[in-house]
Amino acid sequence: SRYVFDFSDGSRELKDLLGGKGANLAEMTRMGLPVPPGFTVTTDACREYLLTGSLPAGLLAEVEDHLRLVEARLGKRLGDRHDPLLLSVRSGAKFSMPGMMETILDIGLNDSTVPGLAAGSGDDRFAWDSYRRLIQMFGRTVYDVPGDLFEAELCSSRTAAGVESDADLDAAALRELVVSFKKVFAAHTGRDFPQSPHEQLYAAITAVFRSWNADRAVLYRRQERIPQNLGTAVNVMAMVFGNRGSRSGSGVAFTRDPATGRRGAYGDYLPCAQGEDVVAGIRNTMSLADLARIDPASHVKLLSIMEKLEQRYRDLCDIEFTIEDGELWMLQTRVGKRTPAAAFVIAAQLVEEGTITLDEAVSRVTGEQLAHLMFPAFDAGAAPEPLTTGIAASPGAASGAIVFDSAAAAAATVPVVLVRHETNPDDLPGMIAARGILTSRGGKTSHAAVVARGMGKTCVCGAEEIVVDAAAGTLTVGANVLRAGDVISIDGTTGHVYAGAVPVRPSPVVRWFEGELSALGDPLLSAVQRIMTHADHLARLGVHANADTADDARRARRFGATGIGLCRTEHMFLGPRRELVERLILAEDDVGREDALAALLPLQRDDFTALFAAMDGMPVTVRLIDPPLHEFLPPLAELTAAVARAEALGADTGRDGRLLAAVRRMHEQNPMLGLRGVRLGLVVPGLFAMQVRAVAEAAAARVAAGGDPRPEIMVPLVGSVQELEIVRSEALAVLSRVDGAPPIRIGTMIEVPRAALTAGDIAHAADFFSFGTNDLTQMTWGFSRDDVESAFFGRYLDLGVFAASPFETLDTSGVGELVRIAVERGRATRPGLTVGVCGEHGGDPASVRFFHDAGLDYVSCSPFRVPVARLEAGRAAS
Ligand code: ADP
Ligand code: MG
Ligand code: MG
Repeated sequence: SRYVFDFSDGSRELKDLLGGKGANLAEMTRMGLPVPPGFTVTTDACREYLLTGSLPAGLLAEVEDHLRLVEARLGKRLGDRHDPLLLSVRSGAKFSMPGMMETILDIGLNDSTVPGLAAGSGDDRFAWDSYRRLIQMFGRTVYDVPGDLFEAELCSSRTAAGVESDADLDAAALRELVVSFKKVFAAHTGRDFPQSPHEQLYAAITAVFRSWNADRAVLYRRQERIPQNLGTAVNVMAMVFGNRGSRSGSGVAFTRDPATGRRGAYGDYLPCAQGEDVVAGIRNTMSLADLARIDPASHVKLLSIMEKLEQRYRDLCDIEFTIEDGELWMLQTRVGKRTPAAAFVIAAQLVEEGTITLDEAVSRVTGEQLAHLMFPAFDAGAAPEPLTTGIAASPGAASGAIVFDSAAAAAATVPVVLVRHETNPDDLPGMIAARGILTSRGGKTSHAAVVARGMGKTCVCGAEEIVVDAAAGTLTVGANVLRAGDVISIDGTTGHVYAGAVPVRPSPVVRWFEGELSALGDPLLSAVQRIMTHADHLARLGVHANADTADDARRARRFGATGIGLCRTEHMFLGPRRELVERLILAEDDVGREDALAALLPLQRDDFTALFAAMDGMPVTVRLIDPPLHEFLPPLAELTAAVARAEALGADTGRDGRLLAAVRRMHEQNPMLGLRGVRLGLVVPGLFAMQVRAVAEAAAARVAAGGDPRPEIMVPLVGSVQELEIVRSEALAVLSRVDGAPPIRIGTMIEVPRAALTAGDIAHAADFFSFGTNDLTQMTWGFSRDDVESAFFGRYLDLGVFAASPFETLDTSGVGELVRIAVERGRATRPGLTVGVCGEHGGDPASVRFFHDAGLDYVSCSPFRVPVARLEAGRAAS
């Protein structure tokens, strides 16, 4: 087998095997771009290592073969005393995991090669600095030597030399630092720092493999839903030195602005620095325009390479580059992460530029991104003077209590904003838990910014006026001092930071959907418009809304819903109408019951009339009453107390007494599995009939008024065809007695597993199906939806029992299988049977794709999620 690929042998298609970084380094090498020579050890080798605990047989021999190729190309040898080749050993998985795994630079330095490096570069300081960095990185990564131990030595070395920054330590000081670093290494590991460059290389490769399972990497993958079993590739490449004097430097760049999508190269550059320094936000960076000033030749070359990369990848690319003594080297590229707004703007731009088709543009954005754009933002009018302004790194509006460390953020029970000098990969748990992230150092490409954008989390970085004193628990801006626990607000779109909470306003995208803003001249809104229009054109799935009122229905229509998939009629029994329901429940005879029903009828009819008017020309699926009746009665404890009080006073317990008796009579241990849905309709005579009549009479009234009502009647909680047949024949009888109504279809929800399994029989009595995936999930897993989320879902997610709550994202292998069975059996009985889904899953991006694949006709979700579902329906079909 083959575990090692030279960069010139791979390509960007080989991400599974070479990881993203390796595949893209190979691609750039094939394009003839200046990439230092090197090779990639495959993910296969990593998986085998993780499985067996040892490197696959033959791997090291292959590594040596490829190393000789690199040596031959450069005319340098690893371990050579006079002109040593140095290597970097870099992790690189299929999916980008910024800073989560390890990279070791300057492999190959030892006591005898340091002088060679110094002589070759004419720079003693540089050579000793590289050596101490190697011992530090190698110690931490390969042998888990605590970083603090090295930091302490650095600190005392600075004190001794009387300097503030590591960059001011001279060669002699660094040489001594190497001695003390070696002592730290030996004291902690019980062995000397390995002098053999080959041993260093093998140990580094192994350490990178191991870093796949580092806690923070595991957590990041869980958060980003990256499979845990992929493993990482390892890239071994010749070092180039950005820290070799003033004509050298290191930078990161984007081919377009990753925050807004604006055209034009965008980046950060640090002279005399190695790559990690830029991302770590240790020093403040220059812009590419500054680079153009100090090194115009490299700048021109960089721009032309960026253009080539865009053409090849047909998308925004981000890159890492290093300039060594005036020579430009490419160290990394990939299709870059971007904010949700930039995703839409760039996709539309690329269509305009003729680079991609509209179909592709639809596939380049996600429903999750659109949902993000629909979040509210701070109300600029109502906001106070900002405390300060940093760099707008990841959009959104976040308010929360200040916390200064990640553990506190992760443990917080109130919304928090994580405030740091800068972040590093160990801050991940806190970043996940926080509403927003604020840092005082680092640019748009700093760790905090990159990770926050990836998570869609609000972030302001590089707010330099802020002095963060984590130990004292204070954040100071000029004369203002805020403490841990004080509320702070950050605006990731403007970079503003406010003391206290700030009111929010609706997003422009929502206002555009609402018809309050025009898309004309606005790059984001025009991009959303163009992509949504095309998504609708591609989609095969319809998108309906769950709405109970005419107001909700109108809103859903503005958001692009083409019907109502679920009108919950029980909502019409609340408020002042509750008393009528009580009368119905307390009725002691047919007359009493019929009176109560007769009083409810006109109210229901008016509700439906308004709803049908709002949805004129579109289907409105009315679900007959579903929840247990006792939900309409006062709580048992409250009633018991009221009756006891009355009895103690010797008063007449009257109506309360009768209510209490009813509540006791109707008390159920498991109401969600009790008397509800169709069961209620079969037990309380006249209830369903009243609702059906109200629907029919409302429709007739709309027809008489010149409208086009399209009601459908849906029976909940059916488990057997017999239940449905009884309700259906009663409903048909009612419908036949109402003059002037349009034809009204009668269908059923599929939400009890038995209904899914017997869908072939049920379809005989149903004109349509609609999956109630909330109940179907609850009953398939045997989870009580109202209880489990707080009781143990957190633990289940941690343990990886599922990657997402099955109430948010459809469990495709379990619940989804019931959906597939029901569709197949239902349509076998009744070809062309309309099948939809109502329930929260209808607006969940991953679930929408499943419903498309399962052959459903429409999804129905809350009005606010309608645009998300439309986009995902288009993506599923593209
Ligand atoms: P990450 O995946 O965390 O970005 P990288 O593998 O890209 O880690 O390595 C981190 C940094 O180390 C890079 O940004 C780059 O600047 C520096 N680096 C890696 N390889 C080399 C090399 N061969 N020469 C010079 N610098 C390198
Ligand atoms: Mg790294
Ligand atoms: Mg990198």
